[in-house]
Amino acid sequence: MSTTEPTVVLIQQRVTLPWIFESARRAGIRIILVPRGGERIPGGQLPPAVVEVLPLDVESDRPGALAALRRRHRRTPFDGITTLYDPAVPFVAEAAELLGLPGIPLRAALAAQDKRVMRERLRDAGLNVPRFVRLDGPGIDADVSHLTFPVVVKPAHGFSSLGVTKADTPEELESVVAEVQQVCGDLLRRSPGLVVEEYLDGPEFAVESLAHRGEVKVLTIGYKGQPQGPYFEETVYRAPASLPVPLEEAIRREVTAAHAALGITDGPTHTELRLRAGAPCLLELGARVGGSGVSHHIAWHVTGIDLAADALRIAVGLPPHSFASDEDVVGTGAAANYIVPCGGHGRITAIHGLDALREDSRVDHVVQMLHPGDVVRPYPDFTGYPAFVLSHHASTAEAEEFHRHLASSVRIEYAPEEGTR
Ligand code: ADP
Repeated sequence: MSTTEPTVVLIQQRVTLPWIFESARRAGIRIILVPRGGERIPGGQLPPAVVEVLPLDVESDRPGALAALRRRHRRTPFDGITTLYDPAVPFVAEAAELLGLPGIPLRAALAAQDKRVMRERLRDAGLNVPRFVRLDGPGIDADVSHLTFPVVVKPAHGFSSLGVTKADTPEELESVVAEVQQVCGDLLRRSPGLVVEEYLDGPEFAVESLAHRGEVKVLTIGYKGQPQGPYFEETVYRAPASLPVPLEEAIRREVTAAHAALGITDGPTHTELRLRAGAPCLLELGARVGGSGVSHHIAWHVTGIDLAADALRIAVGLPPHSFASDEDVVGTGAAANYIVPCGGHGRITAIHGLDALREDSRVDHVVQMLHPGDVVRPYPDFTGYPAFVLSHHASTAEAEEFHRHLASSVRIEYAPEEGTR
């Protein structure tokens, strides 16, 4: 590798998810990897493009981590810093500001990470958001009487749907808030605050976009199911969603305006929204490649655009290739992610149906997070998703048919519970 290749610090990326590393190699960008806490990186088997491993305690020693980055930058300067891990987005913005590297302002990063601030900024910009109240203290310290039930309670700094819970009636709210506080105990001790907002009952969509110098390119809009709660485990992601043109345009307008409202001028974003009375209503906008890289898989197969490579280019101050022409993004196929449901709890004895998929030509990756022997805790606790099945198809209808097949063929078996044997 030539030493003129730009170098980016990649904060808290799991090495089991390959896309960002493969894209870095294609883009000719070298990675200094800051591993996720607790993940050991075997020195001899670094992922593609990784030239150095730099352990930093981003979570519990932020000033120490910033100081270490500054020392590392002085020794041999790097060109950028980025992350795909939502909780690290403000840290990355702070480090970029400190070291004079490309990035979004810390104020914008905080707005994209704290759901209370995000809600306020989107509402103040006149965008369509559910009515909400912020709970900053330990109990229900705000007036919720203007909210129409059901409502959804969630931690302000949450991710992966952790603790997101529906309360159907005002009477239920107190116990739901207490439950969310209990389930998210560690997170709320580090980063307190809850949001209570009206429940949106329509279908859900995810939008992958890239921003560069304030211009936003919407790459894909995908269907995410129509979850009813009370807990919101992810299930499917299929793109492109088949939408009537006026609705697609309304989603593009709303997503583009959300970038401006939050001040997200540069980098990749992952936006989630649901429909209410047929109109898009924003749930959240993350200032990063979504799903630890799943968003890259979706954008790549639907449009041919190397989303993760362009995200890295923006992070090191290079122009993204997908902005080179003014032409609209064109669809070239369909892509999907099937999130294997836990379907129960207890000690896993077997996961059926996954091995056959590794040989299936439609399947690009089976990312398995849980294995036989692991224990899945009952709801409302969230142990993690068992596996993702990432695939590509000629059309979204074929992706849907494939997901119906997975729903009946992939199944997790648990050991009988004590006392029921
Ligand atoms: P996280 O950042 O933890 O994923 P989200 O706010 O994105 O939290 O919520 C996770 C999921 O919960 C969403 O994808 C959606 O399915 C559901 N959800 C969250 N808020 C609402 C709401 N107001 N109405 C309906 N569903 C919601």
